[in-house]
Amino acid sequence: MTPTISTFLYLIAGVCFIMALRGLSSAATARAGNLYGVCGMVIAILTTLLTPAVAKYSGIIGAIILGGAIGAYIARKIKMTALPQLVAAFHSLVGLAAVFVAAAALYNPTAFGIGVENAIYTASLIEMSLGTIIGAITFSGSIIAFGKLQGLIAGKPLIFPKQHLLNALLGVGLVALIMIFSLYQHHSLFWLMTLISLVLGVLLILPIGGADMPVVISMLNSYSGWAAAGIGFTLNNHLLLITGALVGASGAILSYIMCKGMNRSIINVILGGFGTDAATASAAAEASDKPVKLSSAEDAAYMMENARNVIIVPGYGMAVAQAQHALREMADILKSKGVKVRYAIHPVAGRMPGHMNVLLAEANVPYDSVLELDEINSDFGSTDVAFVIGANDITNPAAKTNKASPIYGMPILDVENAQTVFFVKRSLASGYAGVDNELFYRDNTMMVLGDAKKVCEELVKALKGGGH
Ligand code: NDP
Repeated sequence: MTPTISTFLYLIAGVCFIMALRGLSSAATARAGNLYGVCGMVIAILTTLLTPAVAKYSGIIGAIILGGAIGAYIARKIKMTALPQLVAAFHSLVGLAAVFVAAAALYNPTAFGIGVENAIYTASLIEMSLGTIIGAITFSGSIIAFGKLQGLIAGKPLIFPKQHLLNALLGVGLVALIMIFSLYQHHSLFWLMTLISLVLGVLLILPIGGADMPVVISMLNSYSGWAAAGIGFTLNNHLLLITGALVGASGAILSYIMCKGMNRSIINVILGGFGTDAATASAAAEASDKPVKLSSAEDAAYMMENARNVIIVPGYGMAVAQAQHALREMADILKSKGVKVRYAIHPVAGRMPGHMNVLLAEANVPYDSVLELDEINSDFGSTDVAFVIGANDITNPAAKTNKASPIYGMPILDVENAQTVFFVKRSLASGYAGVDNELFYRDNTMMVLGDAKKVCEELVKALKGGGH
């Protein structure tokens, strides 16, 4: 295959990836978007395999079979609720690949056409340095993010004094190292740079508290894209450049949107440990022993079928319990009884962007009854019942009132304004951010303790049995 043809095919693959991103921007077109992505990837892999630079196929095919088998196994086994940590784990591999490619180019520059040993072109040395720095930060940062999301590392922000100063010094050190490495080309300088970047990745992600992890995931996604673009420069591969830039830019845009949604500063996210100081980190309250009003599925059914309007607020617990189907059945019965039922989606509900939308779409909930925070938040005041199912942090008024809270500043769904609030969860435990929710103790709040799916099934039974 001539270089012109392969460049042309890479371009087509690049267009497919752009179409994929476009499709994935809405639940209605997500399947088509996914298909475009698959087509783009098939074209990209076949084109790469057919380039003359590929001398032997055995190793590549073996790696594709092994990697493909592992990927297929993980994709079949993974639980929906564990997807965020899987994404973090996969980001770490992109970062590692960037480091390996940069190292390979350093040790065998002739194979990459970037000069000869100890006389590598300066531009290539700088590209290599940037690729390995971003790659190593992505690698170690993603591992920490994985640990936090998997519950292996405390979700609480880990803060120590002069943290930002240390990060800044390491950053300055890296810039100096790039310059010295570009002059002397010593392999040891390259590895020192990699080591410092690995440490920086850990230091950037460790201080970030639970509630802010969604922004971190999309930020690491962006970093992994830029790391891939860095590999594209080193390998002189146009498609990697295009794809890396697409992932890098879209991840950055998503981070920006999420930062706006969470009322955080993007600069602080990039620098790590944003919006958090030692006082905030330790302010996550313990569960209170104030009295709560306990209620039952039957009571909730009675209240909701006699309501004019109900807003359902799904959260992570709905995903854990896989309650979306029973929930939709419940909503359908209420609608058939003349109740106006809508769903309110918080931008960080669940454990990944769009988590609730995906689950509700899977249960065939009509898109037009699923509304974003901005669209529905002002309606809670005129709502009879807010039905909060497996959600916690996204409703916690501490985000508005308690400056010491780790979630302070995050916009919340104003469920407290509804006439009656039902909270379906298993206990009075706090959510991901580890902050007690004062709504549990309010006069207009009824706690229905139990597994979300079980409670929804009981509700369906009660609604089917009861009249209007
Ligand atoms: P939360 O984690 O705040 O609360 C979920 C609640 O669900 C828990 O308090 C838990 O209470 C309850 N729960 C768990 N299992 C069940 C079950 N089987 N049945 C019923 N209830 C259950 O989730 P939210 O969706 O309210 O908020 C999301 C949080 O996650 C935010 O802090 C967000 O920042 C963070 N996050 C979001 C990401 C994203 O991209 N969306 C990514 C990473 C973090 P109990 O144990 O008492 O049942």
